[in-house]
Amino acid sequence: MMDEQKPLELSQVHTSCRNCVFAEYKKDEQIGCKLNKLKDYENAGIPVVSAYDGTGKKFEIINGRFCMFYRSPQLMEKLPRDTWEEIVKLQTKVPYHAILFIEKDSKFKTVKAALNKLHNQEQKPNLVSVVNKQYLPYSDDPENHIKPSDLLELLNSFNFHQFSLKNVWDGELDDRSLIDLAFDSNKEKPYPFYVSFSVEFDIPDNFSKELNDAILIKMLQIGVAKPVEGINGLIVSKITHKKHGGNSFYVNIEDKLARYEDDSEKFIYEAIEICPSLKR
Ligand code: SF4
Repeated sequence: MMDEQKPLELSQVHTSCRNCVFAEYKKDEQIGCKLNKLKDYENAGIPVVSAYDGTGKKFEIINGRFCMFYRSPQLMEKLPRDTWEEIVKLQTKVPYHAILFIEKDSKFKTVKAALNKLHNQEQKPNLVSVVNKQYLPYSDDPENHIKPSDLLELLNSFNFHQFSLKNVWDGELDDRSLIDLAFDSNKEKPYPFYVSFSVEFDIPDNFSKELNDAILIKMLQIGVAKPVEGINGLIVSKITHKKHGGNSFYVNIEDKLARYEDDSEKFIYEAIEICPSLKR
């Protein structure tokens, strides 16, 4: 809590609990948060400072973060009060884009199993981009490779919110360049993170839950989480990718972040720190 003798120095980014419907008050003093988020911020070392308004009301300010759980009375007034907590928990999930690679020799059943793993996540990806590295081998030998129209039909059957299939025409592009292409064609979509996996990788069932908990409970600010192997488990924030031009010039995004960003160690993680179930 703030030393009341010193003036309060607020970061440009902050959240005042003052009017949040989840702020708990005793008389004119905030004593907590119904969702226990103040504890989560404090446990994560994020400054929570006390402030007073002109009427003498005392409330908390989370300095340096937007609280994703903040809801104003105006926003909630039409909803029954006893459903607010449940609703905000359902609403507050971290949307993400999953980029899934089909390898040159992947089998149809392996692709289906990987899509199933994504579909069965507690928080399904909002967008799935399938990068089909089998397109050129298919053109040369259609008998022994997956037909792109079968892939499209398979993807369609999963009922993801959004999906795309990218057939790779250029055999020279490496996986990081393909990630950049998959990102670029969706960069206007409002998903703050992307993750990448090969269909040959065993995507853990808990992956999305752990990612959500890392961001919404442990309050980690993820710029990049380094993959566990190859591109598997790579997690990148959209802001970071845009700011550093992704993996352009054959420099991986995590290396650019480490090189060019002050305090970069605060934003770079190993993927297993975010999602322990990725550990092999
Ligand atoms: S949900 Fe966030 S803004 Fe609202 S009271 Fe809790 S910590 Fe404060």
